[in-house]
Amino acid sequence: MEIYVHIPFCAKKCEYCSFISFPSSDIQKNEYIGALLREAEIRKSFSDEPVKTAYIGGGTPSLLSPEQLRRLVNGLRELFPMDECTEFSIEANPGTITVPFIEALSDLGINRISYGMQAYQNHLLKTLGRIHDFSAVKESVQIARKYSVSNLNLDLIFGIPGQTISDWEETLDAALSLCPQHISAYGLIPEEDTPLWKRLQQGELTLPEPETEREMYDLAIRKLKKHGLEQYEISNFALPGHECCHNIGYWTQEQYIGLGLSASSMRITAKNERGLFCIRRTNPEAMDQYLKMVYNGQDFFTEEHVSPEDTRFETLMLSLRMNRGIRPERFMELHGISIDSCYEETLKKMVKDGLMQYSGGAWSLTRKGMDLQNSVLVEFMED
Ligand code: SF4
Repeated sequence: MEIYVHIPFCAKKCEYCSFISFPSSDIQKNEYIGALLREAEIRKSFSDEPVKTAYIGGGTPSLLSPEQLRRLVNGLRELFPMDECTEFSIEANPGTITVPFIEALSDLGINRISYGMQAYQNHLLKTLGRIHDFSAVKESVQIARKYSVSNLNLDLIFGIPGQTISDWEETLDAALSLCPQHISAYGLIPEEDTPLWKRLQQGELTLPEPETEREMYDLAIRKLKKHGLEQYEISNFALPGHECCHNIGYWTQEQYIGLGLSASSMRITAKNERGLFCIRRTNPEAMDQYLKMVYNGQDFFTEEHVSPEDTRFETLMLSLRMNRGIRPERFMELHGISIDSCYEETLKKMVKDGLMQYSGGAWSLTRKGMDLQNSVLVEFMED
């Protein structure tokens, strides 16, 4: 089982952000941690499985004080079987990192940090509305290494308005100069109603051309590979043995429990001759509803029952994100039916169109298939 904890606090809203995040006082943070632990207590019977990975994301979890973080993590450790948790990650925003915070991570067994670096150039960081510059990223990496939290990810964004290919190359070089074990490189998707989206609509900003963005993506794949960071998923690159186990858990349909505002959980409820039955539950996005759910038992959450047909499609959708794809034996083990008998015609068509391949004992997307992933999935959806 995996655990995800959402911390919805940020010092300032980034221009492109559509996540659930907002500024808060220390009192609100304390209240929220109390509610998280209460939710954890209510939901500890979710599964008896040991927790293999945990992830504190946000928002900006590094805005918690060391004491707040200690209260949260010690509380989780008391409630869930976490002795086998080998990967415990936290997201952090450069510019909010302090030595006591990193010392707390080290004491609490949080062994992986994901820093939101995003870009190297100050003018691009400003366009994104980030609160830090590259020197803050560098300093945050140094502090983490000094206190032995040395498994690091850097998040980067390409396709930013005004970003050139040489800007992107400079960003990749700057990130590589810090020797992270993992890099996530995401193409910017301007979400509706964000300040960045509004500026694009008003013509104040312009996105790079799609060919330029594609060139940036190809450059990332080539350059990171040259430095030993292999692409293992559409947006993720790692040194061998440093792939993010938590995310791989999502893509391979491990059960997970999500705590906090807007967090989702996925539980397998039955596995029989018809296949795999799951329930996905999502917490509310509003704080008052979340608190009423936790303390008064009010039903402010959504629950979706996922049928065997839908879980089979999700297996394809999630596993095709990864370069390793899906092994027929794994599909059979999950669903009790062969991938060929479910999708024979579509698989043949995908191979014929050069979008998928069967290689090394697994079905995966070709490079062309990765670019056209959505169209590939539509074919499977209609099968
Ligand atoms: S730090 Fe992350 S979550 Fe917070 S506002 Fe920026 S993009 Fe959103």
